[in-house]
Amino acid sequence: MWRNWGRTVAVRPARVERPGTVDEVVALVRRAAAEGMAVKAVGAGHSFSAIAEADGVQVSLDALSGLLAVDRGTREVTLGAGTRLRDVPALLAPYGLAMENLGDIDAQSVAGAISTGTHGTGAGFRGIAAQVVGAVLVTGTGEILRVGRDGDPALLPAVALGLGALGILVEVTIRCVDAFDLSAVERPEPLDAVLGSLSERVAASDHFEFFWFPHTDRALTKDNARVPLGEGRSPLSPARRWLDDDLLANDMLRAACVVGRTIPATVPWINRSIVRLSGDRAYSDLSTHVFTTQRRVRFTEMEYAIPADLVLDAFAAVRRAISRSGWRISFPVEVRFAAADDLWLSTAHGRATAYIAVHRFGGEDPEPYFRTVESIMLAYGGRPHWGKMHWREAGDLAPVYPRFEDFGRLRAQLDPDGLFLNPYLRRVLG
Ligand SMILES: Cc1cc2nc3c(=O)[nH]c(=O)nc-3n(C[C@H](O)[C@H](O)[C@H](O)COP(=O)(O)OP(=O)(O)OC[C@H]3O[C@@H](n4cnc5c(N)ncnc54)[C@H](O)[C@@H]3O)c2cc1C
Repeated sequence: MWRNWGRTVAVRPARVERPGTVDEVVALVRRAAAEGMAVKAVGAGHSFSAIAEADGVQVSLDALSGLLAVDRGTREVTLGAGTRLRDVPALLAPYGLAMENLGDIDAQSVAGAISTGTHGTGAGFRGIAAQVVGAVLVTGTGEILRVGRDGDPALLPAVALGLGALGILVEVTIRCVDAFDLSAVERPEPLDAVLGSLSERVAASDHFEFFWFPHTDRALTKDNARVPLGEGRSPLSPARRWLDDDLLANDMLRAACVVGRTIPATVPWINRSIVRLSGDRAYSDLSTHVFTTQRRVRFTEMEYAIPADLVLDAFAAVRRAISRSGWRISFPVEVRFAAADDLWLSTAHGRATAYIAVHRFGGEDPEPYFRTVESIMLAYGGRPHWGKMHWREAGDLAPVYPRFEDFGRLRAQLDPDGLFLNPYLRRVLG
């Protein structure tokens, strides 16, 4: 039985394939097509939505991983599609390169991360898929297709963020940057003060985000500035990192959430205590050590992308909905930002974007809360993260994606028999 990280999907694939070469990928796709079986590549299983659900042939690209080529001049790096993000820094270190921006974990595979539009924060920076300059994939007819750098450039904006619906990615070329450090300031602040100066703070920072713990009037802010590699580096001591990131952010959070799940009335007090104990630290370190953290407390998540200039109104509406409801929400609401990009199915397509993410502790029913927030986000032209929970269908999504029909046509061309479709993709693509 295969289960995703968030325990929202469980499926028993008819067969699991672990190809070690591109030719083996071609062969398994042709074999599955001949047998009339669905095929689905999976990465690290870190999507909360059922986008990676494979009840036919499940394909692990773990053996197609690692560094395949580096062009130091253009800073373009080709990786096997199954490469885990956590392995990328060590692969790039000898070349003095790093990925431009990352989300808040690094467990994902490169192909999985780009296929759902994984992003970090920073109004001047785009998601990981927008850093892709080339890709090689095996289509539904078993052909090898090169797009971008050494192939068809017109297809790159579709293939770089293809939901796993266009083929099996075997190689991905990413434009990197010179390795850099991040200088981080993390602290609890009054929520109203953060909201009152939000646009200025987002504009002044390379990577700004905040977490609001419901039932409190405080926010935890994170403000990361890009600085030259090694310059005045002052990393957290191992003891401080253990205290903050292991004990508080994982072990104590889990214990607090268990208490909150058992006795919901304690949640406001618990949230206030967590905010009091958290944050207030300044340090600098290698970018990847600052961008990403370990998440050991299981939760569910829904995240919506909205135009950045609507974030205050949308956030206020979420706050009102929580205070009007009887819910006791122990996990924070997270607000992040990204620059516009031109990928056809990117949640940041054509607009400067704010992301509002809501979470619930594992074992709690997220649906009433998430559905309420979803209905708020729709009023702001919201686009759901493809890898997180949501209830939208193709008919709702087409109006918010100008290239939706083009994507559908390309999908039908590259995968005429719908080999790569699963129930989630049929729902969102129609
Ligand atoms: C704790 C946690 C933290 C997270 N933090 C963030 C965050 O900060 N920002 C953010 O945006 N998201 C975040 N996510 C969501 C996560 O980044 C995405 O769901 C991502 O897609 C997961 O990558 P994966 O390798 O696990 O892919 P999977 O979930 O295994 O697969 C996702 C999709 O990629 C496709 N795919 C995988 N490999 C291939 C391939 N070789 N060829 C074609 N298609 C392929 C699958 O078929 C599927 O459609 C988080 C998730 C978790 C659980």
